[in-house]
Amino acid sequence: MDPLVSSWVFTSIPVECGESINPPGILVRLDVKSQCTPASDSNMDLVLNVADHYVLTPYVYPSSWPEEGALRQIITLLVVTNLGAAVLYLGLGWLSYQFVFDHDLMKHPQFLKNQVQREIKYAMTSLPIISIPTVALFFFEVRGYSKLYDNMEESSMGWAFVLFSMISFLLFTDGCIYWIHRFLHHKRIYKNFHKPHHVWKIPTPFASHAFHPLDGFLQGLPYHVYPFLFPLHKVLYLALYIFVNIWTVSIHDGDYRVPGLLQEVVNGAAHHTDHHLFFDVNYGQYFTLWDRIGGSYRNPSVLEGNGPLDCVRRLMAEGKICSGKDNTDANGYSNRSGTKSKVQ
Ligand SMILES: [Zn+2]
Ligand SMILES: [Zn+2]
Repeated sequence: MDPLVSSWVFTSIPVECGESINPPGILVRLDVKSQCTPASDSNMDLVLNVADHYVLTPYVYPSSWPEEGALRQIITLLVVTNLGAAVLYLGLGWLSYQFVFDHDLMKHPQFLKNQVQREIKYAMTSLPIISIPTVALFFFEVRGYSKLYDNMEESSMGWAFVLFSMISFLLFTDGCIYWIHRFLHHKRIYKNFHKPHHVWKIPTPFASHAFHPLDGFLQGLPYHVYPFLFPLHKVLYLALYIFVNIWTVSIHDGDYRVPGLLQEVVNGAAHHTDHHLFFDVNYGQYFTLWDRIGGSYRNPSVLEGNGPLDCVRRLMAEGKICSGKDNTDANGYSNRSGTKSKVQ
């Protein structure tokens, strides 16, 4: 290292706006950001920034409550997280239910009475509970304990690193969710925490967030852990957060189409539908990778012309009532890759 550079002393000295500081004999990097910049450019979380700048500071909180106050941040995070989750869940769920979900699936014999209402009620009861530990993690992010950054200059590799973090985020969370999901299927855990999500054998987009609170939090945990372990751009994190919600809805939307080239790699609605129907297959979130490694991959019955919609259409054509056991044998077992697994 250049001896001149190595002799520089980099330190962080908070100063007030306009104050000049010139310690003799050393070069310093001044941390003037938090005190001098407006709320929209502080080191706070992006969403919190916007909410503070445009709504909360001018209209909601008294001026005696500073934007950096812990209590104020926690209250705001709770409100913003709950509102965001409800808007994303209900908005995306409704759009998908109206424009993507094939309503013929509701004629399937394993579709429950009042299922859509029950899915929404369950999700809307769980989401506020899930938000409590989630907000604790958001709070630590906002207080600067994560590796989130909002300045491209802080990324040593520029846009290439942003692209790399996108791929790395998806691979990291996909692997973590796979094993958390398998853990939730453990016989000692399943009944109390994961079974509520498996009540919906023929899920609608509204089943996407209908989890027991602990189940929902654990499966969402990898998304929150990632930025504490790896650098991630804040805007990308926000975009990925929205993408994750869209994806979660999409694997419950009954649209089984996957572009041919990606069918082997991407875990879409076709795969996840079989997870709901056959219980111990296709645990993955985005990719089939871990199901293949973990021996739980099942070629989607939909792609073999034997999915729930095929069942409904066949029975509609025949004018019969579907037995609901099209994919099971007389003992209620499904066949997966030559092995037998009990349909729950
Ligand atoms: Zn499951
Ligand atoms: Zn599901």
